[in-house]
Amino acid sequence: MLFIVKNRKEVLWSSLFIATGLLVGVTLSITPILRTFGTNNDEHKVVIDAGHGLPDGGAVGIGGTIEQSINLSVAKKVEEILSVGGIEVTMTRNDENCLSFEDDGKSLREMKREDMNERLKIIKKSEADLFISIHMNHFEQPKVNGLRLFYDNNHPQTKELANSMQEKMSEITGAKMYAVKAADQSLFLMKNPPSPAVLVECGFLSNPEEEKKLNDEDYQSRLAWAIAQSIKDFLENS
Ligand SMILES: [Zn+2]
Repeated sequence: MLFIVKNRKEVLWSSLFIATGLLVGVTLSITPILRTFGTNNDEHKVVIDAGHGLPDGGAVGIGGTIEQSINLSVAKKVEEILSVGGIEVTMTRNDENCLSFEDDGKSLREMKREDMNERLKIIKKSEADLFISIHMNHFEQPKVNGLRLFYDNNHPQTKELANSMQEKMSEITGAKMYAVKAADQSLFLMKNPPSPAVLVECGFLSNPEEEKKLNDEDYQSRLAWAIAQSIKDFLENS
């Protein structure tokens, strides 16, 4: 490897990214990036949100994939990569369930409201530098595929983050890109988030090929690597 190791963090980031690179078969293409690692991430905090959670499974794929479980899998991979790099990560959920309890006769709607409020509390309490929400998309026309990223209109710097994140994700997965958009104000957590926020739709479960890819561990690792890398770049430059 052609990089100079400067400190322990750099070793961690480098080892991780070598491992990730080997895993995804792109070691050569990411080697130049490794030279840029090693700055101090101790001060940085990020909230990673795996969208939905049972009983709200989110979108259902054409082959039956339930969105919430892919969201969780990608989110955990992002958490792992960021944590190894010294960034403090708070997850909104760590298992398949939402943050509300079903056992006291609440409707699904009430549960979703409670779940969203709980997530908002987590973001507020964490005083995070960034909030990243991970989702999978769905559309009525199965041929539609690719990434969709939404930035938070209250923190204009997130537009640039969404753009760079999408570019990295597309570069490493080949997924189609669209223009990033301001998040719809009807999205509760994106309406007035306490921390700068980006919502990432990693692909369309309604597209049979993309659904297959999104279920693939290697593909998920690529997505997670790109998301984590762009978070790290953003935090270091902001
Ligand atoms: Zn979703």
